[in-house]
Parts: sequence; structure tokens; C-alpha cells
Amino acid sequence: MKVAPLRCEFCDATTETEFLRHHLAMTQAQLRVTFLFCALFYLCFAATDLIWVGYELKTCLLVGARIAVAAVVLTCLALLKRRPDSIPFTRVAANIVEVAGTAGFLLIAALRPTEFSLHAISMSIVIIVLYIYIPNRLIYAVAIGALSTAMFVLLAWWLGALQTMELLTMAALLGLTNLFGYVAARRYQILWREEYSAQMVLKNLSVRDPLTGCYNRRHLHEQLLETEISRAQRYRLSLTVIMSDLDHFKAVNDTYGHYGGDAVLQRFAALLQSMTRDSIDSVVRYGGEEFLLILPETDLAGGELLAERLRQTLADTPVEHDGQQIHVTASFGVASVDFATSTHEAHVNMIAAADDLLYAAKNSGRNRVCAQQLM
Ligand code: C2E
Ligand code: C2E
Ligand code: MG
Repeated sequence: MKVAPLRCEFCDATTETEFLRHHLAMTQAQLRVTFLFCALFYLCFAATDLIWVGYELKTCLLVGARIAVAAVVLTCLALLKRRPDSIPFTRVAANIVEVAGTAGFLLIAALRPTEFSLHAISMSIVIIVLYIYIPNRLIYAVAIGALSTAMFVLLAWWLGALQTMELLTMAALLGLTNLFGYVAARRYQILWREEYSAQMVLKNLSVRDPLTGCYNRRHLHEQLLETEISRAQRYRLSLTVIMSDLDHFKAVNDTYGHYGGDAVLQRFAALLQSMTRDSIDSVVRYGGEEFLLILPETDLAGGELLAERLRQTLADTPVEHDGQQIHVTASFGVASVDFATSTHEAHVNMIAAADDLLYAAKNSGRNRVCAQQLM
């Protein structure tokens, strides 16, 4: 899982999306706190307008700008609550608040041109909030941070608010604040992604069988089966499982040794993985040489067809090991439930039924497929 060094996102777009989804609840919680803080920050500092400007028309403009920013921020906060599972919306909300916040701030600075040194301090706070406290794409934060800093410096120059040396010093200091903000944000972004990668590696190790890379039985019982059955139930779809077992595997081990046996297992597992649908079908190592396939949205005829194709391919392609060719076959039991018509709890013993069908295939001569619709 490679992270691009500058924008600090996973190079693979799918991984990045999965990461963002994984982090979404945390991102939203952080945004809610920051949004609330921003709204309060803008409103409370209306007191400084009164102190510095007094009761004038300009004060109304200033307070109006503050209320407008707070209203945008609070609206985003409310909308965020209504769309807690949308990544694009979360992004858009972060950007709207960043743009509204900086634009409001620039307007306030323009209306109070006599205190630019104080505004520069506030601007540093705004930059830090942009980079660190509002979770956003790093490139967006950089764009908004750099652009608003440039506009702030230009505004000070245009209003003639500071002497040249002061202006240059302020520009340099704000430039540094951007740089430090970027470096800190970059560390966060990379750290979160490294942590996520480590979690995924561990998770993958805990759900897979080390020899074949197939899912292990624990994952089947803890999550996989339950997930697929409830999805098929909910949408009234078909679900098919195929139990397969290598024929005379003990003889393979006896003849070619354990390494030969392992090579056969790996080859069979690779065949099952490559001839089924990625991220849709699941391949589980169920026992020593027994593998289970879970095929969502697949009816009995489809499952039978697939099992037959697998049986044929395995029988036609011997496994190469140490310069020898090992000929193996497998038997298959296919059990299917159609949740649109099934009336009983047919699915409860689905795997046991596929196992029974597998043994029926074994008993009728091996290297064959037995299939049954469960009612
Ligand atoms: P995939 O979905 O991971 O499928 C991997 C391989 O499983 C396929 O490689 C094919 O050998 C086998 N397979 C899966 N489903 C079927 C099926 O219904 N009938 C048959 N005869 N074989 C099946 P293949 O054919 O080289 O396809 C590579 C990838 O291209 C597939 O990966 C899938 O992502 C895509 N693809 C190919 N044909 C279709 C299609 O008709 N519909 C969809 N949605 N995707 C397809
Ligand atoms: P087909 O190859 O004759 O497969 C007929 C049906 O068997 C499929 O209907 C599906 O229900 C089931 N089936 C076959 N292989 C697989 C598999 O690897 N996994 C799962 N879950 N089911 C499988 P379906 O889905 O309506 O597909 C109709 C036709 O579309 C297939 O006829 C095939 O010609 C094509 N097709 C779909 N996906 C793929 C694919 O990934 N690769 C290839 N080569 N063809 C595909
Ligand atoms: Mg066996």
C-alpha cells in the first residue's frame, strides 16, 4: 500500500477510498468540533469590532460578515449530521468552511486596516486550523492556505497598512506558518495511512490460510457466511455454495511427499481463485484438502456450471512439481438456496448439505459434481 509522498494519499484510488471510509466517523467527529469552534471564534470576536471600531455602520458590516460565516459553518455542521456516511459531502463541507472562513476573515481585515499586526496573528491561527484541525485533502488545504495567505499579504500592501519591512517580515512569517502547517499535516496524513495499512495487514493475516491464501474457516463462521446469507435474504436472491475436495489426496502426499502435497493444494487453490469472480465469490480452505466456494447471486445451474468447469480444468492440467507432473482430480457438492421462493430455513444447513453432496460425488466414483436445490 504505497502512499504518494507529496499529496500523502494512497497511490491506489480504491485503497484510498476504503481508507477514507474507514476513517469517516473520526473525520466527521473532528469536523463537528472544529466547525463549532470556528462559529464561536467568529461570533465571539465581534467584541473586538466594538472595541476597535466603536458603534458605527462599519461595525454592522463586520458583525454581519461574522454572522454570515458562522451561518455557513453551522449549516455545514447541520448538513454533516444528515449525511454521516458520505465521503464527497464531508469533503465539500470541509472546503466550504475553509473558503467561507478565510474569505470572511479577509473581509474583516479589510474593514479594520489599522491593526494588521494583530490580524497577522489571527491569520496564523487560521492557517493552522486549515492544515491541522479541518481534515481535508492535503492538496486542498495547501491551495486554500497558500492562496489566502497571498491575498492577505496583498491586502496589507494594497491598504498600505504596514511599512515595507514589516510587510516583508509578516509575509515571510506567514509563509513559514504555511510550511510548518503542511509538514505537520503531512505527518498526520502519513501516520494515519501507515496505521491503516498495518491494521489491514493484520486483518488479512487473521482471516487467511497461510499456505493457500484462501479465507480460513474462522473467517467463514465469524463473518463471511452470515454476511452473504443475510444479504441474499434481504434482497431475496439465490446463494450457492460449492464444497470441493481433492480425490485421493493422501496418496499424493504418500507418493510425492508433503511438499508435493502442498504444491497440489496451492495449485488447486489458485485455480479456484482465478476461475471465480474477484471480490464477489469467496474461496475458503475448509479443511486439509477441502475448499468451500461461496457464490452470491448465483443459482443452482450457475453453480453446477462453474463446478463442472473447475472439475474439468483440474483434471486436464497436471500440477508441476520438481520436474514431475502430478495428476489430480476433485469432487464437488453444489447446494443452492433461492431466497425468493425458499420457505423453510433451508440455508441453515447449507454447508452440511454441500458436504453431503460432495460425499455423494465421492461415493459415485469421484471426479464428479453432485448438485441439489435446497427448499
Ligand atoms: P473476475 O470476475 O474476477 O473473474 C475471473 C475469472 O473467473 C474470469 O476470467 C473467468 O475465467 C471466470 N468467470 C467468472 N465468472 C464467469 C462466468 O460467468 N462464466 C465464465 N465462463 N467464467 C467466469 P476472465 O473471463 O478472463 O475475466 C476477467 C475479468 O473480466 C473478470 O474478473 C471480470 O472482472 C471481467 N469480466 C469478464 N467478463 C465479464 C462479464 O461478462 N461481466 C462482468 N461484469 N465482468 C466480466
Ligand atoms: P456462463 O459462463 O455460461 O455462466 C452461466 C452462469 O453460471 C452465470 O450466469 C453464473 O450464474 C454462473 N457462473 C459461472 N461462473 C461463475 C463464477 O465464477 N462465479 C459465479 N458467482 N457464478 C458463475 P451470469 O452471471 O448471468 O453470467 C452469464 C454469462 O456472462 C456467463 O455465462 C458468461 O458467458 C458471462 N460472464 C459473466 N461474468 C463473466 C466473467 O467474469 N468472465 C467470463 N469469461 N464470462 C463472464
Ligand atoms: Mg480428500
